[in-house]
Parts: sequence; structure tokens; C-alpha cells
Amino acid sequence: MNATGAPLTDTDVAALPFMQRPLTKLLGTRTATPLAKMGLETAGDLLRHYPRKYAEPGTLTNIAELQPGEHVTVVARIHSATVRHMRSRSGAMLHAQVSDGTHTLSLTFFAKRSGVLRLHEDKLRPGRVGLFTGTVSDYRGERQLTHPDYVIVGVDADDEDAAVEVASRPIPIYPATAAVPTWRIERCVATVLGQMRPTDVVDPLPETVRQSRTLDTLFDAFHKIHQPHRDTHWRNARRRFRFEEAFIVQSALLRRKAHTHELAATPRPLPRGDDSLLAQFDTQLPFTLTAGQVSVGEEISTDIAQEHPMQRLLQGDVGSGKTIVALRAMLQVIDGGGQAALLAPTEVLAAQHARSIEHMLGDLALGGMLGGAPNATKVVLLTGSLSTAEKRQAMLDAASGAAGIIIGTHALLSDSVQFADLSLVVVDEQHRFGVEQRDALKAKGRTVPHMLVMTATPIPRTVAMTVFGDLEVSTLNEVPAGRAEVRTHIVPADNPTWMNRIWDRAREEIDQGRRVYVVCSRISASDEDSDITDESDNPQLFELSQDSRQPRELVSVEALTQQLRESAALHGISIGVLHGKLTPAEKDEAMAQFSAGNIQLLVSTTVIEVGVDVPSASMMIIMDADRFGISQLHQLRGRIGRGNLPGVCLLVAPTMEESDAHTRLQALVNTRDGFELAATDLELRHEGDVLGASQSGHGSTLRLLRVIKDADLIAQAREEAHNIIEKDPHLEKHVVLRDAIDDHLDQEAQEFLERA
Ligand code: ADP
Ligand code: MG
Repeated sequence: MNATGAPLTDTDVAALPFMQRPLTKLLGTRTATPLAKMGLETAGDLLRHYPRKYAEPGTLTNIAELQPGEHVTVVARIHSATVRHMRSRSGAMLHAQVSDGTHTLSLTFFAKRSGVLRLHEDKLRPGRVGLFTGTVSDYRGERQLTHPDYVIVGVDADDEDAAVEVASRPIPIYPATAAVPTWRIERCVATVLGQMRPTDVVDPLPETVRQSRTLDTLFDAFHKIHQPHRDTHWRNARRRFRFEEAFIVQSALLRRKAHTHELAATPRPLPRGDDSLLAQFDTQLPFTLTAGQVSVGEEISTDIAQEHPMQRLLQGDVGSGKTIVALRAMLQVIDGGGQAALLAPTEVLAAQHARSIEHMLGDLALGGMLGGAPNATKVVLLTGSLSTAEKRQAMLDAASGAAGIIIGTHALLSDSVQFADLSLVVVDEQHRFGVEQRDALKAKGRTVPHMLVMTATPIPRTVAMTVFGDLEVSTLNEVPAGRAEVRTHIVPADNPTWMNRIWDRAREEIDQGRRVYVVCSRISASDEDSDITDESDNPQLFELSQDSRQPRELVSVEALTQQLRESAALHGISIGVLHGKLTPAEKDEAMAQFSAGNIQLLVSTTVIEVGVDVPSASMMIIMDADRFGISQLHQLRGRIGRGNLPGVCLLVAPTMEESDAHTRLQALVNTRDGFELAATDLELRHEGDVLGASQSGHGSTLRLLRVIKDADLIAQAREEAHNIIEKDPHLEKHVVLRDAIDDHLDQEAQEFLERA
């Protein structure tokens, strides 16, 4: 259809760039319709539908030696070829007999209509010699090839040698459906390639880049990926397409970064004098900052003194002390007259941040109150679970400027929340906030706020480049010295002695005034799955390991709490629960009680995974630990050993043979280093899980690129993209690239809308 809704005329089609021409015009409606069901509507769609893999061409075999199931190529002369309508079922078939002089072989082709078969019949004329490739089957004692690929000497190839050459090419295998088998896609692609001229193909890769990285032109690459003559063809073409994908993503990110850099922000230079909030805070700090905290602090301090918005990612393992770093940046901004907002992924975490930041600030947070320091500021929590009156007060404090630090979830981004002078936004646990949310924030300040995003998930360098490539990256490599040891053990769930022992052990901890977490993978026994109603994202639970053939009953928060409350070992201990089905207020209350010591043992789901900080918690027992992933276990375990108390973490799981689950748990026993664990995790996981579509938004652009395996390629693409964007930030001299980026961003936005 064209803009007026009428069908496209041939002139309309001819006016379209080749890649946008509809397959209905290039292939005919009948052929194009099933392709459209696969989402392939234009020449570009089809040509970017790359083969999934390549089959070895069949080995040249004598008909006498054919074995059913073998993938073979035979040279034979055609005896007969006839199209018949089938009586038993609708449709037509073509049956041909070929022979090598002594033995015969049947070829069969099926189709709904005889028209398609006539094309074969026309080529398979008696007397002609051809090479036929396919998988041998046995039909009523006769050897047969169904839908063979073939090359006819004198038609598709000049002579037999040339035919052998054609038949020995790698065979592309496409992602296909029952309605559109791979050989049909192969033929459609051939038809489209046949109509494509070099000038029809505009390349988003600038020629200089292609030459310096020795990459095929786009025109060549389309031919080589779909119709390779040898393996090197498709390998080179794939490399080129992977590079192109990486290059477009990197160019998009770097352009974004360059554009943000052109925006104006209010500079908040480091305050002078001892009476600044920051200086007072530093003198009252109960510990010395780690070298990493100091140097990252300086980077941030310099950034927010600039006239352009900071865009920085702070990576640091669990417990590395990111919060202090962020808080010091907030104080610098407040000293300069601005406000800071802190976004947390859950209300529990927001409330906890508010509590601990107020605690760390002490009288510096008592702005406007009796006993406050002279230039003290005010910290407000603004979440959905506040009462209407509390919410009103918090919003008033944000809008009037009375509050220097405003803490909440992404609800802070809603239009109803106004700030007097928002100058810094800190996003905790960034992986739950997308580019779109980052953009929403830009509109919140008088000028564009500085932005600091923090993540505890160690991200491999090129993944960070692909997901956060528009941000500068700082890393905290060490955890503060003097951090207590945490020992980790695997406890066999099927050993009653051990299982009784863990509750005695929990009691010993509690009797020393410490606190214990118990983590379960589900809320109640009737739960289909895990804590799916959590506001934190779904725990990525693993399938039960294959060696446990019996489906096993997973321990639930409700059942276990009941059991523990009745157990003699824990008699008199106060036991609380925390999970996603509680209201935000109930969750917050449970955390506060646990923190205060009124709850001594907390049975919880993974809601506590992120950020929760209770220094007196010294023990964690994780039930069904084999169901959790490495990074999740690492985050969970990060909740203990936060103060100077030595911690113990018990991973309860059935006795396992050597398995991935066992390797995961053993990795946790061996190290607390998040980066080392991330590396083990990567080895055990599939590429797709690493850059889940929800994290990346690059879903449809990244068809071939693999963010781990193609690390070198991504780094090279970034370098090239950097050179180009530096000289031409608006891509005025790189229009094709600019269009490719816009397409990519459109798709990204589309996917975002579909997910939201
Ligand atoms: P995370 O990086 O996981 O968010 P936090 O910022 O919550 O870590 O810090 C973890 C704990 O370490 C907190 O209790 C914090 O007060 C403490 N801490 C932070 N920096 C230091 C330091 N330099 N020395 C000692 N303890 C520190
Ligand atoms: Mg934290």
C-alpha cells in the first residue's frame, strides 16, 4: 500500500529504494504471503534473514552405494520426469528417474499446485546430466531423494566440472517454518539477489572503515552470506555483518553521548571551606575511604563541576561502598545550592537508603529542625506507600527546595513531582532502568541534571560498552579493608543430621545478638513459580537439575516459617517474613524490625537480593540454592559480612553429581570476588542470557553479534565509530549511517513500547 492506501503501482515500487521494495512485487504474492507471516516483507527483510548455519555439501557417491539417511550428491542422467496430481491427497508431485548407467534413483518434488513443478520439469529434461544433492530415503525398496538441490550441466553450469564446483558449495540453512522450508527461502533469496544491482545497496559502513578493517562491501556480503562458494565467503560476510551491527550500535551510543555533552548543566564545583556539608561530613566519617572511593570520588567531583551533564556509570561489587561515593557527590551539589535525587529499584531499598543516609549524615540531615547543624539539609523519602499527608509534605519539600536529598523509586519521575533545582540524579542498581527512564530525567531539572548510575553487577567490558556505551565508566575494584570473612558451605538437603544442625547454628548466631536471613525460592507451597509478584525483577530461577529426576517440593517462605516457629531449636526466637506479596509498608516494617533486632530471623524470598544493609546480620541460609544463578547467590550473600562480624553462608541443596548447578555452588564456596564469579557465570551461561533483550533493547539489530565472543570486534567498531562521531557528531557527512542508526533507534523504541 502507498500513503493513500491504494495498492502500489509498478512506478511506485520502482521509486522505492531496493531494500524497501515489497516481496509481493519481487517474488509474486503467492510466494511472498507465507514469508510475510515470518515477518519478511521487503527485500531488505529477506536479505537480512541470514542463514543460521551451513551444511556441508554432499559427498559425491555412486547410486549403488547410497544408504538411507546419508546426505549425498550424485552425478546422473535424467531418464524421465513427469508431473502428476495426487489422488490420495490434494496437491501435485513431480517424479523423475535418474540413472548412472547401471542403477536408478528417484527424485520427488511435492507442491500444492502443479505450476511450480512445471519449472522443475522444464529443467529436468530427459537426456540431460545433473548433480543432485539431498538426503537419501527409502521408498518401497527404492532409493529416493526428496526435494534435492540440483545443478544441470549445460543449464546451471557449463560443463560437468563446473557443475561439480557448484554442487560442492556450502548449503545455507535458514531459520525456517513448516510453511516455508529452508530450500524455499534459499530460492526466494536467489530471485531477489538476481534483481539487485550494486547501486541498489547503500552501505552504512564508510569506505574508509571497510578498508582499514578489510571488510566486504555490503553488496558482496549479501551474496557471500547467502550464496557462498566456499566457507571463507560466509565467514567473511558474517564478520562484516557483525562488525556492521557493532558499528551501528556504537555510533548510536557515541552520538547520544556527544549530544548530551552539548546540553547545558549547572556546574557544581567542589565547595571551599570547612563549613561546607561535604567537609563536615568527611570529618565525621567513622572510617577512611578506600583508595578507589577517593579516586572515583574525584572523577565525579570534576564531572559535576562542568557545564555539561555528567553521564557516569559506577560499577562496584556488592559491599564496595558505592553509597558513600554517591552521597559525597550529592553533598557537593547541595553545597552549591542544588538538589539530588536517589532512585532505587524497590520501595524497600528506597526506604532503607533513606534510613541509612539520614543515619550517616546525623545532624547534617536535620535541616530546619532543632539540633540541626547550621547549614544542615533535609532528606525526604517519597514513595507510593506513604500516607497522603506524608506524600504531600515530601512533595512540598522537593518543590520548595527544603529537601536537599529526595529518595524514591522511579515514581519520582512522574510529572507530579517537582523539584526546586534538581542538579544530580543517582540511579542505584541501574540494570533495572532503561535509556528511556534516563531520558525522562533529563526533563526534570532547570538545566539537565548530572547523572550517576550505579550497578553491583560486574559487567564484562564489551557488554558494558554495548549496554551503557553512552556513559563514562568508573569502577570500584576493592572492598573496604577490615571487612570480615564470610565462609560458605554447601549443605546436603537430604542429610537430616546436617539439616537439624543448621537451625542450631542459627540459634547460636542469634544468641550472640546477631541476625539470620533464610532465603526461599517461593512464597507458598501452592505457588506456581517463584516470587513473581516482586517489584524487584524476577529471580532467574533454574530448572531443577537434570539429575533430580523426581520433581521436588521446593521450600516456601510460608511452610518454612511455620516449621521454624514450631521448632524446638528456635524456641523463643522472633521470626519474621518478607516477600513480594506483602504491601510496601509491610515490607518496610519487616526490614525495619529486622534491622532493629525485634525480628531476629527473617525468612524471605529474593526481595532482599539488592542493596539491603543490616550490618548485624551474620548468617544466611539459602534453601534450594541450586535453583539460583551465580550472580543472584552472590548478591544475596552480599547481605551478610557487611560489618565487622564474620559471616557464614549455607547453600542448602540436594546432593548432586557433577553438574552445572554443582559448579555454580562450588564457585560461590571458592570465592567472594564478584568479577571472578561473573567470569565463571559467563562460562556456564549462554550468550543470549548475558544480554537479555530486556537489558539491551538491541534485540533486532543484534542478529549475529555476540557480545562476549565478539569482544574484539566490538572494541574495534567502537574505535571506528569514535573517530567518525568526533569529527562529525551530527553525521552530516554520513547520511547512510545516520539513517541506519535512526532505524535502529526506531526499532529499539518500538520494542520498548511493546515491553512496557
Ligand atoms: P554497595 O557498594 O554494595 O552499595 P554500600 O555502599 O552499601 O555498598 O557499603 C557497604 C557497607 O560498607 C556499608 O555499611 C558502608 O557504611 C560500609 N563502608 C563503605 N565504605 C567504607 C570504608 N571505606 N570503610 C569501611 N566501611 C565502609
Ligand atoms: Mg548499594
